[in-house]
Amino acid sequence: MTVGGWQPARVVDAVGATPSARLLHLQVPGWPGNDAGQHVDIRLTAEDGYQAVRSYSIGSYGPGETIELAVDEIPDGEVSPYLVRDVLPGDELEVKGPLGGYFVWRPGGAERVQLIAGGSGIVPLMAMTRAATDAGAAASVRLLYSVRTPEDAIYREELERKAADGGVGLTWRYTRAAPSGWEGAVGRIDDDALRAATWEPGQQPIVYVCGPTGFVEHVADALVGLGHPPARIRTERFGGA
Ligand SMILES: Cc1cc2nc3c(=O)[nH]c(=O)nc-3n(C[C@H](O)[C@H](O)[C@H](O)COP(=O)(O)OP(=O)(O)OC[C@H]3O[C@@H](n4cnc5c(N)ncnc54)[C@H](O)[C@@H]3O)c2cc1C
Repeated sequence: MTVGGWQPARVVDAVGATPSARLLHLQVPGWPGNDAGQHVDIRLTAEDGYQAVRSYSIGSYGPGETIELAVDEIPDGEVSPYLVRDVLPGDELEVKGPLGGYFVWRPGGAERVQLIAGGSGIVPLMAMTRAATDAGAAASVRLLYSVRTPEDAIYREELERKAADGGVGLTWRYTRAAPSGWEGAVGRIDDDALRAATWEPGQQPIVYVCGPTGFVEHVADALVGLGHPPARIRTERFGGA
């Protein structure tokens, strides 16, 4: 039963994605499907009635009653440690959604698409990557994905597969440690990294930036500095500094 937009959801599986993140598949009876980039609110209720609500992007898109989330643990957080460490297949929680109509990508257009993710900010951009690949539009998509180390990359194998053979243009940026043999720079995304890995402003891409608040603001400011019109930059802030 739906009360106030909240729907029961059952955890189908919970699989480690990185040392600090888990993929959760939730079955949501009556789920209407979702566009790539949308999110849900998740509500947890403790035995004493205390409730906590947090937003999580949906890594999957399209029809079907099963959605995929990827949750990265924030140390000392209230909700994410539970979702990453404790929740088990068969557990029930509540979801509200799909939410958000701005930070979405739908197939059909011919424009170039630039995706820029920091950490778990990859989740809605993964949905867009999957949607674009399935729609035969991968060649118009570039993804710049910033992670601390290679081990911290959620969806690493699937992204590498999707980038092969003329698929999505994928560039990694490592902020702390790169794989052995890496010849690129290590550190946070700067103007040089953006120039090298993204569509130029003159190519008029629509740009999606997602990650921790500080990451998103830094990257969006840099993009504007490089000449991308603010109206072509869509941002989703996950919180934190
Ligand atoms: C639209 C939207 C979509 C989101 N999608 C995802 C997703 O797909 N995967 C995911 O893992 N998270 C996602 N988040 C973040 C998520 O909603 C929670 O904020 C996060 O899981 C932390 O919750 P918590 O209860 O564990 O921490 P809290 O108890 O809320 O916070 C603990 C401390 O961590 C800081 N903090 C909170 N969030 C972050 C963050 N993202 N980075 C760094 N520090 C933070 C807080 O400021 C606080 O100091 C999304 C947020 C939004 C708004």
